Amino acid sequence: TIGMIVIGQNGQIAAGTSTNGAKHKLPGRVGDSPVAGAGSYCDSTGGGAAGTGDGDIMMRFLPSYLAVELMRTGTEPSIACKTAISRIKIHYPEFFGALICANTTGHYGAACNRVPGFSTFPFVVYNSQTNTPLLQSVDCF
Ligand code: ASP
Repeated sequence: TIGMIVIGQNGQIAAGTSTNGAKHKLPGRVGDSPVAGAGSYCDSTGGGAAGTGDGDIMMRFLPSYLAVELMRTGTEPSIACKTAISRIKIHYPEFFGALICANTTGHYGAACNRVPGFSTFPFVVYNSQTNTPLLQSVDCF
């Protein structure tokens, strides 16, 4: 899945994910990608979030919605991402997943669940002022 959060010049926020890329999926499986609040979510008064990973688990917790609601009440994006991942981790310690978050001021962060073979999560940030995509990475916890 490719997830994206975009903040427009006037502060409008959009978020989305490509359709799911789960292997061996059952015919008719929808997954988290097209479900608002699961695969992605945004609100121009809070921010945007988008996830990747095991959608069948992640979609039960609406991690993107939770992260945006936390940002709306002032939580920093990296903490909002971490809190949403933590919520899933309580029930599924071994789940594979990551979340990116950005708030209305353009601050951003990401979080991922550390499992064997997945210890860092790369993401790209682009800003029209610098005009150069910046590859960043977060350590999973
Ligand atoms: N979240 C997607 C899904 O479960 C897969 C992915 O992120 O690659 O359908």
